[in-house]
Amino acid sequence: MTNTPSPITRAPTSAPASDTLRPNIDFDCDQVVCPGCGEQYVHFSLGHFESTDGYTCPLGTRGSWLALDMYCEHCPTTWHLVIGEHKGFTLIGNVKRGGNAA
Ligand SMILES: [Zn+2]
Repeated sequence: MTNTPSPITRAPTSAPASDTLRPNIDFDCDQVVCPGCGEQYVHFSLGHFESTDGYTCPLGTRGSWLALDMYCEHCPTTWHLVIGEHKGFTLIGNVKRGGNAA
């Protein structure tokens, strides 16, 4: 909760239509894989939560957001898995620690 991801400038992804789910997130369960090597053995801890109406989310969205600190067992990749709100939509994305989009 004290580890704040470095903000980056990144335009919000196109928001899905209100009746359309993104193909990689559905009502079942999807597995998070390492964005560096594609391995499935990744771990997380709560990195940050922010209740805001501003544009502080590293995804470039406006509104509250949270970040999980992620790391991989098989390579040195570390990143943030970020969930952010934007005008009623909820978006999810990977952000490299240190500021570059994963
Ligand atoms: Zn990896």
